[in-house]
Amino acid sequence: MDEGKKKGKAVVVGGSIAGLSCAHALIAAGWEVVVIEKSSGPPTGSPTGAGLGLDPLAQELIASWLGRTHLLHDSTLPLTIDQVIVEVSMRNRDNMRKLSKLLNNWSGTALELFGELNFLTHWKKEFEELETKEEEDFEGEEEDCSLLGVSKDRVSCTSGFGISGSRLQMVQLVKLFVFKIPCEVQMFKKAFENEATDGENNINWTLTRDENFSFRAAHWVDLHSLLYSALPPHIFLWGQLYLSFCVSNDKSNVKLKTKILQTGEIIEIVGELLIAADGCLSSIRRNFLPESKLRYSGYCAWRGVLDFSDNKYLEAITGLRKVYPDLGKCLYFSLGYGTHSVLYELLNQKINWIWYINQPEPELKVSSDMIQKMHEAAEKVWVPELARIMKETAEPFINVIYDCDPLEQIFWDNVVLVGDAAHPTTPHGLRSTNMTILDAAVLGKCLEKWGVESLLSPLEEFQSIRLPVTSMQVLHSRKMGRIKQGLILSDRKPFDPKVATPEECHDLQQKNMPFFGEVP
Ligand SMILES: Cc1cc2nc3c(=O)[nH]c(=O)nc-3n(C[C@H](O)[C@H](O)[C@H](O)COP(=O)(O)OP(=O)(O)OC[C@H]3O[C@@H](n4cnc5c(N)ncnc54)[C@H](O)[C@@H]3O)c2cc1C
Repeated sequence: MDEGKKKGKAVVVGGSIAGLSCAHALIAAGWEVVVIEKSSGPPTGSPTGAGLGLDPLAQELIASWLGRTHLLHDSTLPLTIDQVIVEVSMRNRDNMRKLSKLLNNWSGTALELFGELNFLTHWKKEFEELETKEEEDFEGEEEDCSLLGVSKDRVSCTSGFGISGSRLQMVQLVKLFVFKIPCEVQMFKKAFENEATDGENNINWTLTRDENFSFRAAHWVDLHSLLYSALPPHIFLWGQLYLSFCVSNDKSNVKLKTKILQTGEIIEIVGELLIAADGCLSSIRRNFLPESKLRYSGYCAWRGVLDFSDNKYLEAITGLRKVYPDLGKCLYFSLGYGTHSVLYELLNQKINWIWYINQPEPELKVSSDMIQKMHEAAEKVWVPELARIMKETAEPFINVIYDCDPLEQIFWDNVVLVGDAAHPTTPHGLRSTNMTILDAAVLGKCLEKWGVESLLSPLEEFQSIRLPVTSMQVLHSRKMGRIKQGLILSDRKPFDPKVATPEECHDLQQKNMPFFGEVP
């Protein structure tokens, strides 16, 4: 830093990863920083947050802020393989019944296919059971197939067959349906051809595998703790809720009002720059863009971290490692039908998992009943080894997945947005934290270069560097999510693992993220 330059003061709202990263970057740029965070203190303990993946540039930046390169390395595990597999359980007897319920107003002539069904001896018992059932047995069953790997859209594809008919015809049509259109039986067939089934309950095959992935897996709370411990504690105002701001007429400073949550006292804080690091629901962003809305992705994610350090889950982990042999260095994406899960290992004997489920936007209250249903559904959708990990995990939680159409600007006078406040994103490109860290680093460099005399030039430069990159990355991540969830896309057919070309499978790799290896 040039010693002759005037020192600016930045007030950062938000003490999460964006806030801490900005504190590091701006202190390195010679700025004074104060961080306002509504939580009462720094988060501690492993239940806070779950896993995240750090790209090589973010690793480099964090290491430079911490001053000791080994610290980050020692707190993370490698993710050197990015692999997408198809991995589903074939124990879906209930699916058959639910499919038949969906089809029970339809019928058709499928007799010519009857004979062929014999080859699927795996399903023989299910068919026999179905045929002995009365129509009433199907009454009152849930129609929601979102967990079943067969979406209503796909079911309705077959409505061309529809004429009302006898129960026997309906049963026949169920068979036709199961045989003819994409569903688990087709997956079974494919696996059969690929000899990639364990012959009993599971089918799996690899869609794509990239062995040159250089990410590292961190637990959120460990990363937060690393960044926090390397900052002077006096810059943090914990337990303070940001309320409002006002930029002075001459634009030389910005004044904030905050509330000390413990006492209710309102105080004012003045600085040259206000950095909004207040997350995807940013109230500072709303101030400038009241119309800007988050977009619900169409799915939620169950998440959890299983701690297996006490040997209690030895058998479950041994089983899991058989199915996912590269755990400990691999970022696994498992595609089911219209659903997908993510699995990777974290330091200190922890397994991080995420399961994305298509559904209408939900209320956000996790109850024990919901957890129970999730466990039951997992047994039908995923291989038993993964379903077991989900079941054994204490305190699984739900993330409702949102993003936001890219903003046109991310600064106004003395106020700048960073991190999730600037670009709420879906998690499929492992971008959120990486974008955040880079935002902070670029902001620091721009401020250092231009000094504090006028904030227009550094903030314009910051925006011109970051906005095109983050905008493309948010949209790419959105597309990846829709592909992996089997949802409708504007420019192509929904992804179908059974018929996907090698090129389409290759598109699923993380390295296709725009600016993956060369960020400006
Ligand atoms: C507790 C926690 C756990 C997380 N765990 C994970 C994880 O396991 N994996 C993962 O990929 N991502 C996780 N995230 C999200 C991840 O941090 C972000 O997606 C990403 O790193 C960008 O961070 P951010 O700082 O921009 O936003 P956020 O992490 O959302 O942080 C925003 C911060 O602003 C604070 N804030 C908001 N409004 C106000 C206000 N009015 N006054 C004062 N403070 C305010 C919030 O309390 C919060 O600390 C977690 C976030 C939090 C807060």
